[in-house]
Amino acid sequence: MENNLSYNKILLKISGDFFRKEDEFLSFEGVRFIALQVKAIHKMGVKIGIVVGGGNILRGSKSSQKYGLPADELDELGMQATLLNSGLLSSTLKNLGVPNVVLSAIPVSPSIGEPYNRFKTEEFLSRGNVLIFGGGTGNPYFTTDTASVLRALQIHANILLKATNVDGVYDKDPNKFKDAKLYKRLTYREALKKDLRIMDLTAFSLALDHKLSIIVFNAKNPRNIEKVVLGKDIGTIIEGGSNG
Ligand code: UDP
Repeated sequence: MENNLSYNKILLKISGDFFRKEDEFLSFEGVRFIALQVKAIHKMGVKIGIVVGGGNILRGSKSSQKYGLPADELDELGMQATLLNSGLLSSTLKNLGVPNVVLSAIPVSPSIGEPYNRFKTEEFLSRGNVLIFGGGTGNPYFTTDTASVLRALQIHANILLKATNVDGVYDKDPNKFKDAKLYKRLTYREALKKDLRIMDLTAFSLALDHKLSIIVFNAKNPRNIEKVVLGKDIGTIIEGGSNG
């Protein structure tokens, strides 16, 4: 593969948490930090799709439980939040000279992006654009984890890269337990048996059904995305081919 790439077409899932800082729900530095990492792998020739979450602004089900508002209504707003984050990432990437397009699952202003259209994705990618998928799946009761699996399958990505702020998948929360053990490789079956919450179950079962491999890695480390696409031993891989 080009430049010794292990993965030349990826779907990167970025949680909205990367776009916040302490009390600020929007951190432009946070967006730029991710954009710089995307720029580096774009330069290496990787075809990139990105699904951006909205959790820095609103998570529908959480707020619904807390405040007793209808979950589906809040989910609609959550999807708007993902679009806002997508637009910010898009502007930041453009500013860094990285061509990109926002493709949205929900109505979007033409000055920000355009409706998702599966026929156009390959064309955009072959012209060197990064694809930023906004609006999640376009439906309430889903998350952007499910959207990331969906879009990974639709663009035929080699791998789904789930960015987190820890080094991968552990047997227990590494922020709470010093002796937490990091898994390097897992099968889907192991992950389910050990009840490791890598993604929500809807997302996870869709990935399992389609044998999609996932790497969970720490994106707070500035060169980790680069290392992952080069096949370096970073994070935890959940192997799609071995779900038996
Ligand atoms: N959302 C939704 N449908 C989708 C994707 C997202 O309704 O297909 C809503 C949902 O309320 C969710 C919010 O958008 O909580 C933000 O997405 P998510 O929680 O996945 O963001 P992340 O945790 O990745 O920042």
